[in-house]
This record gives sequence, structure tokens and C-alpha cells, in this order.
Amino acid sequence: MSHTPRKVTEIIEPQYVIEGADVLLRRSFGPSRANPFDPFLLFDHFAFNNPIEGPIVGFPNHPHRGIETVTYMLEGNVRHRDSLGNTGVIGPGAVQWMTSGRGIMHEELPKRGPNGRVNGFQLWVNLPAAQKMSPPRYQEFSAGEIVEIEQPSITTRLVAGDFAGKTGLTTDIAAQPLYMDVILEPGSEFHHDIPRGHTAIAYVFEGAALFGVDDNNDGEFVDAVKMVVLGDGDSLRVQTGASKHVRFMLIAGQPFGEPVVPYGPFVMNTEAEIRQVFEDIRNGTFAKEPV
Ligand code: MN
Repeated sequence: MSHTPRKVTEIIEPQYVIEGADVLLRRSFGPSRANPFDPFLLFDHFAFNNPIEGPIVGFPNHPHRGIETVTYMLEGNVRHRDSLGNTGVIGPGAVQWMTSGRGIMHEELPKRGPNGRVNGFQLWVNLPAAQKMSPPRYQEFSAGEIVEIEQPSITTRLVAGDFAGKTGLTTDIAAQPLYMDVILEPGSEFHHDIPRGHTAIAYVFEGAALFGVDDNNDGEFVDAVKMVVLGDGDSLRVQTGASKHVRFMLIAGQPFGEPVVPYGPFVMNTEAEIRQVFEDIRNGTFAKEPV
């Protein structure tokens, strides 16, 4: 078997955007018909370090269809409530993997932690055409439940996928995702095999490292905060220098190769399916699952 290291093909500077009710966040990419990160549609980083920003109102009641939204918190928490009658708090270190399927209405309200900060990520994962109208469902794991792997100079928290012989608790996701939080100490190396053909990106949010290190030990220097796009191959190497650590979310998954028609919080395959969403909302049949 030939071996191809994945190289850096693009470094994205996350852009500040205002979403929901005055939530300032950094967006690396959002849904588009071009769908360059298939099966991933959006990656947002919401981080508030400045107490003078005032109260965070958050994301009042809104619908979703055709996607999965994955919320992973570092600091502070998100209060959550939905049309299925679910209610809860996603605390620091916890994850909520929400599969909207044919429809959900929910509100997401970030709340500062004791240190005054909110810090977390939302990743949107596409659903294949065959599952866009599936029943909505949740997979939620507390900080203590998430699979954590301690190795010399590497700490990983595995939300989904496989690493070092362990498997994340999130199951039955069509995109076959890898989603993990990686902390690499100074002067060390991270290595992981990612199946050829899978989309792979890394969100660097602390420190700096060489990404996409090849067999000649050449790589691309990336410092926080950036989204790194990795070319195809079957393995990824990341190396830290002598003085700085790096922390990043590694995201990989199987592209669906289907047409994508996004409209706000809905992502479908055709314009007719987007029109159907609005018809269902008008008819009062949207997100009306038996509770
Ligand atoms: Mn939402």
C-alpha cells in the first residue's frame, strides 16, 4: 500500500459574524451550494472574553431541517429547549449531537461560566438525501462521559470516530465523522490515519504547530485562530515546536457528493424541498413530532 501524507491546501481566517440575537462569533465557513467541505456545512466558534459585551441573548426559537448540529463546549454553557419537549444544559466539556432530520424547533442560549467566559463550537454536518426526512434525535454526552485518551504529550477528547483503539460514543452518523479535540504539548508529534477520500479540516484555537508534515518533515506553520484545510491522503502529522503547545479540533468525514441547496437553517438537496419546508411551516405540520 502506498502512503500519502495529507498536506495543507488552504488556511482560512475565521470571519466575525453576528448570528441569532446579537451573538458575535467567528465563522470559518457556512453552507453553500459549492459545498467545499462536504459533508460539513458550517463551523462556528463562539467565544466571549470581554465582560463589557453585556448579556448574551443567544439563539431564540428557530427551526432546522436536513442537517445535524453539533455543539461542543469548552467554557460556560448552553441552555437548550426544543419542540420534542427536551430541555437541558450543555456544560463545559460536553457535547450535543442533534440530528434535525425532517424538523426540529429549538432555542440555544449561551451562558457565561464562573470566569465570565463562553467558549464553544458549533459544527453542521450534512445528512444524505435518504436521511433528510428521518425522525429527529439527540446524542448527548457530559464532560465525564466523553472518551478521553491520555498519551505521553498528547491529550485527546474523542467526540466521534476512532483514535488509538478507542471509539467515540456518538454512533450511527451517515458522514462517518471523526471529531476530536487534540492538545499537543511542545516538542511533540501527533499522527493519525484518516481514510483516503474523506474531507479533513482542523480548527486551531490555541498555540501553533506545523500541520501536514510530510516524509521530508516539511509542513505548514499555523497559529491560532485558523481553520486548516487538508488535501487528500491517508495520514496526518502535526508537530509542535519546542516552546508552544497546540490545541485543535480535528474534523473528518465521508463526502456525500450530492447537490446542496441551503436556505438559512435548512439544508436540502433541491429548491423544491426548500419550498416544501415553508409549506410545512404554513400548514402547521413542521416539527410536529408526537412528544
Ligand atoms: Mn440551532
